[in-house]
Amino acid sequence: MGRREAILAEMGLAPIWRLRRQPGAVSDAEVAGPARTDAAQDWIELKQLVSGCVKCGLHKTRTQTVFGVGDPGAQWMLIGEAPGAEEDRLGDPFVGQAGRLLDNMLAAIGLDRRKNVYIANVLKCRPPGNRNPEPEEVARCSPHLLRQIELVNPKLILAMGRFAAQTLLETDASIASLRGRLHRYAGRPCIVTYHPAYLLRNLPDKAKAWADLVFARRTMATL
Ligand code: URA
Repeated sequence: MGRREAILAEMGLAPIWRLRRQPGAVSDAEVAGPARTDAAQDWIELKQLVSGCVKCGLHKTRTQTVFGVGDPGAQWMLIGEAPGAEEDRLGDPFVGQAGRLLDNMLAAIGLDRRKNVYIANVLKCRPPGNRNPEPEEVARCSPHLLRQIELVNPKLILAMGRFAAQTLLETDASIASLRGRLHRYAGRPCIVTYHPAYLLRNLPDKAKAWADLVFARRTMATL
């Protein structure tokens, strides 16, 4: 089994089929199957850590944590801000209106969240009323995101919106000033674009977001 298949299987995202054997034909060790890969174990541990996290006050108001979605071996990693109401209810990132726009934007450059992209947020819990994340919440939660980046090990990161960009690039610069340039996060190319929820409110900036995606696709082609 390849790395990607092993991780998917361990995360419960793919069925594992094993041939039924005659009793006594094989040892217990063989029946137990191959040992978990280190990467699969790392994902399980991180997921458990996040789901039980009480490092900031948001755990008191969440329905559940929103970990991440997609291919854990993806070359593309997209990072948003924080779960909204729908995400808090369903447990996956970008499942509301902004998520539909994001999926359409991804499709336009031949990407699909179920196949070749991994999506996560800076915060794993919903800020009440969808308010902006507090600096303290970002500081406490972002280590989870940084670990996800380490595990996915993407070739390219797309930071969507102010909180993703400022957290990864350790800056307080505006999106407008960060767009259109190639940044680096931990040695990987990082491209900044508008958050899909912002685009829903500012339709004319969709053209700029499209330019960012084309820039990202062009950059990926060189990696
Ligand atoms: N906005 C985000 O930044 N993340 C989500 O998961 C949903 C909306």
